[in-house]
Amino acid sequence: MYYTDDTVIFLDGQYVKARDAKADLFGQTLHYGYGAFEGIRSYRTVNGTKIFKATEHFERLKKSCELVGIPLRYQVNEMIQISYDILEKNKLSNAYIRPLVFCSPNMTLSAPKEVSVMIAAWEWARYFGIDQLVKLCVSSVQRPNPKSVKIEAKVCGHYVNSVMATMEAKERGFDEALMLDMDGFVAECSGANIFMEKDNVLYTPPLGNILPGITRKTVMEICRELDIQVKEKLFKPEEMTTADSAFLCGTAAEIAGVESLDGQVFKKPWRNSLGCIIQEAYKCLVLDKSYSYVIV
Ligand code: PMP
Repeated sequence: MYYTDDTVIFLDGQYVKARDAKADLFGQTLHYGYGAFEGIRSYRTVNGTKIFKATEHFERLKKSCELVGIPLRYQVNEMIQISYDILEKNKLSNAYIRPLVFCSPNMTLSAPKEVSVMIAAWEWARYFGIDQLVKLCVSSVQRPNPKSVKIEAKVCGHYVNSVMATMEAKERGFDEALMLDMDGFVAECSGANIFMEKDNVLYTPPLGNILPGITRKTVMEICRELDIQVKEKLFKPEEMTTADSAFLCGTAAEIAGVESLDGQVFKKPWRNSLGCIIQEAYKCLVLDKSYSYVIV
């Protein structure tokens, strides 16, 4: 699904066939989740294939590594160039790009001696489908304590939490999990940030218990351009069920409308919501098109 016999990936300075690439079974990352990664997308735009927010993603990768003490020796520009090479070598336009920084064989808990970088890409369709709205549930799985993990870092081990939340949501018949922080406030979804609309204002949880999403920031930029008011504010799930509408945002999810929370359907039809306007503007942005025609 992710590669064929012809797929080429980048691994430690070389372009190699994915099927020939090897990683050591005694790596620290595999055993302890001590590694960092990114999730990036490229689009076929009117100006050719473009990686959306490439600099922001690779800067976050560097920051994630720094925060947990993994020495990443590549520069942002180098990694962007490698990503474009990978797209070209695999003839990809609309793709998902996955850089992974992983550590050398080391069964102790001490600092890594060597660090590897791999960058792979594969074709990627929309996560939730164009017209499909997401059925959310409040998860019993909380976000990790920001005093025990670097919450703003995209670190491999943090994602056990997201896998558990997603599994629980699907078992209960929902599409996605809405996770709360330790104090019961809404934090984010397993792999996306959350916004809700109330009386023509958008609300989203502040930084602190969430991954600082690049799409979340893009949404805020779109709102500034379109004169849509956004407030960063803590709110409980009970408050969210009285919202007019809601949406998730993330590199993979893009802007995905939410139909319901714990079975309670949001009152505003998606097509009339602020999220729908932002979804349209976001689509233009990733495709390098002007969204000046998107009128609020
Ligand atoms: N929260 C979590 C936990 C995520 O994994 C992601 C995806 N990276 C996001 C939010 C959204 O972040 P971004 O918009 O940068 O993809």
